[in-house]
Amino acid sequence: MVINTSQDEKIWTQEWDKLSTESEIRIWDFFGLRQWITKFTPRYGKTIEAGCGLGRYVFYLSKMGIDIEGVDFSESVIERLNQWKSVNGYDCKFHKGNILNLDYSDNSISGYISLGVVEHFIDGPQEALAEAYRVLRPGGVAIISTPNISFYIFTQKIREKFKNIIKKIIRHKGPKELFHQYWYRPKKLSRFMREAGFDVRVGRGADIQFVFCEMGNYTDKYLKKGTFGYRFSNKFENTPIASIGAQSITISIKRAPLMHCFLCGELNAGESSLENYSIPVCDNCSNNKVSAFYLKHKKTKYGKEYIINPELNANSKRVCEFCNSEYLTDRIFEDFGFSKNVCSDCLKKPEVNIELCIEHIKPIWRERPPI
Ligand SMILES: [Zn+2]
Ligand SMILES: [Zn+2]
Repeated sequence: MVINTSQDEKIWTQEWDKLSTESEIRIWDFFGLRQWITKFTPRYGKTIEAGCGLGRYVFYLSKMGIDIEGVDFSESVIERLNQWKSVNGYDCKFHKGNILNLDYSDNSISGYISLGVVEHFIDGPQEALAEAYRVLRPGGVAIISTPNISFYIFTQKIREKFKNIIKKIIRHKGPKELFHQYWYRPKKLSRFMREAGFDVRVGRGADIQFVFCEMGNYTDKYLKKGTFGYRFSNKFENTPIASIGAQSITISIKRAPLMHCFLCGELNAGESSLENYSIPVCDNCSNNKVSAFYLKHKKTKYGKEYIINPELNANSKRVCEFCNSEYLTDRIFEDFGFSKNVCSDCLKKPEVNIELCIEHIKPIWRERPPI
């Protein structure tokens, strides 16, 4: 018999109660997906994060001027988020909601982000993905990740199978099985997306580093500079070897003959633009230099090397490399995780933040600080 607690609001609330928004933000690349999420979140129209937890991405993306709302089914998390938001002066929105039945009308939003959520349904992710498809407007982008069967998880699963065989042999009656989540390989997640009607533009593995983090029991044991884990994850993160990483990620489009252009938001991008670009681009915007970042074969750069456990760097004086004004680094987001200095006003401009997210991401990993 399988006990399914994966949709139990109380259990999730208890988990979130052990953590804080600030502690989650300060881990930075804990889920190694920042380059994909920031590159492909639409700069125009509304984006939602379905299953936003403590809201790290909602707050981060709102710093980039993105109109974003967080949805979560835990009432207590939503209360905490609204409180954190008003204390720290953010203008993003949060509300309690069910991701199988969202409070948005058909074809109304431009971005749907969901990170490590859809694998928690015992019947599979189909219903949640159908709902994502419904609310996205034509040309809208779905950014979905789930855990992957990484090489670590793979060995864990084999161990478990072996244990079960032994138990059967000695006729041991084990405890009831608990369902928490599935692990989907990138190919499987991509297939679910296509079955829901999406055009999958990116479907790949990511985050080799987190596998070593898990192996070191969530410490920096195998992540320290010079260790095998450090060298391996730096070398292979942006190569096909990332298919054995900890996450599967898909970037998908709600395709239609006429779509909202990713770069200006207007309903004027044709399907033919998807031959050259990862996202829908209208004729006007294809002349814009930012469009080159979205050419289908353009690779995102992910910094040079991971910076492990750096000192906190809040409120230090910098000069913005886009407008030359002096500013203080952010109290929570420090230098926003970029290798180029940017003030909070410039960060809100799409032409600035797109360049930063594709060319200047500084990968950071920091141990989860005590809350
Ligand atoms: Zn356009
Ligand atoms: Zn500036």
